[in-house]
Amino acid sequence: MNIHLSHNPWTQKYLLALCSTAILLVIITLTTHYNIELQKDNALMINQSGKQRMLVKEIALKSLQISSNPVPGTEGKLKGELLTALTQLQKSHSEMSRSEIPEVRKIYFSSPKALDNQVRHYIEVGLAFANTPANDLAQQKPKVESLLISASGELLTVLEDTTYLFQLESEKKTLNLLRIAQGSLAIILFVLILQGLYIFRPMIHAIELEKEELIKLNEDLERQASIDGLTGVANRRQMDEFIQRELARSLREKTPLAVIMADIDFFKAYNDAHGHPAGDECLKKVAQALTVAVRRPTDLVARYGGEEFAIVLPNTDYPGALLIAEACRKSVEGLAILHGGSLASVFITISLGVAIHNGTQRNTESLFAAADSALYKAKNSGRNKVVFEPQTDDNTAKELESL
Ligand code: GH3
Ligand code: MG
Ligand code: MG
Repeated sequence: MNIHLSHNPWTQKYLLALCSTAILLVIITLTTHYNIELQKDNALMINQSGKQRMLVKEIALKSLQISSNPVPGTEGKLKGELLTALTQLQKSHSEMSRSEIPEVRKIYFSSPKALDNQVRHYIEVGLAFANTPANDLAQQKPKVESLLISASGELLTVLEDTTYLFQLESEKKTLNLLRIAQGSLAIILFVLILQGLYIFRPMIHAIELEKEELIKLNEDLERQASIDGLTGVANRRQMDEFIQRELARSLREKTPLAVIMADIDFFKAYNDAHGHPAGDECLKKVAQALTVAVRRPTDLVARYGGEEFAIVLPNTDYPGALLIAEACRKSVEGLAILHGGSLASVFITISLGVAIHNGTQRNTESLFAAADSALYKAKNSGRNKVVFEPQTDDNTAKELESL
């Protein structure tokens, strides 16, 4: 299995998906921003042409008030107001003239409206009237008439039309903005669905698969680390962990714990006679025979080292442990593997030493030492037999001895 998390192609696809979404969002934001700016221009224009309409009306009104015999003393004030309105109209007009907005230039400067000429002319006539002396009625009259005709006639209509045109433009832009918003939403949803279908779904699937493979790989490694490569039974490492756990449980629950040490008799001679590969095969068969003899799922058979095996039997007392040890011995003998160099039998045999945790042996070392000592006795008393190591303070052992 090959897993390269750092160069995973899904990482690139995921980044690509993120980048494309980001680019899309930037484009949409810029377009929206641009349209909002246009909309702002329109609002400004609506405001300006509305203002111009109001000022044109005010200029006409003030001129009329001035020329139709105002209350004495108010003429100066009225003229001041007239000049203010004219100045404001001039200001608005020059603002419109400076505008770079294409819509403004189209409506304000080009025919048929050509609004700028009309406004300029109106301002000129207005200023001429404002500068005419108050007592010169002969001169005032035609100028006021001209202003009134201009104001009530074409200019106001054109200004009204202009406002309306700007309003239409504004509505068009609003509609555009709405379309952009809807279109953007549709595009984003579409892109997200595509990304979900073609990037994220297969990516999650691939990640799930990789996770499962990793879990399996971990389990395999764990198993390999705790299993003896040659015989397939537990290795020393697993056995050490197992015995620690079981010893703690035995102390806690006050239950017996048995350990059997088994060693193949005259195995060196077997290797010498049949060769090392045959010796390996023999070790495998012996391990199998021990596994068959040990029946409880809570028991553990382990290769302790070389041609030596350890069997740990939780919650098992002396009689039980001796029965299992004897079953192991018979099981190996029953393999009937011919062994020319053995002084114990014509077949491969094992010697076994049994020890029990009885509440005083508080560590695994002393328990194994006891089993090893029993095994030593089995070897020294003819081999192919089971010997148990009775403890001085162990009642069960005493009971057994007395049997
Ligand atoms: P005893 O009955 O006293 O146990 O005699 P023995 O010959 O079995 O004991 P000794 O300790 O002298 O020799 C153990 C032999 O086991 C030596 C070694 O060649 C053999 N052996 C240990 N591990 C392996 C293995 O993995 N494969 C094979 N083929 N032989 C092994
Ligand atoms: Mg041996
Ligand atoms: Mg040995």
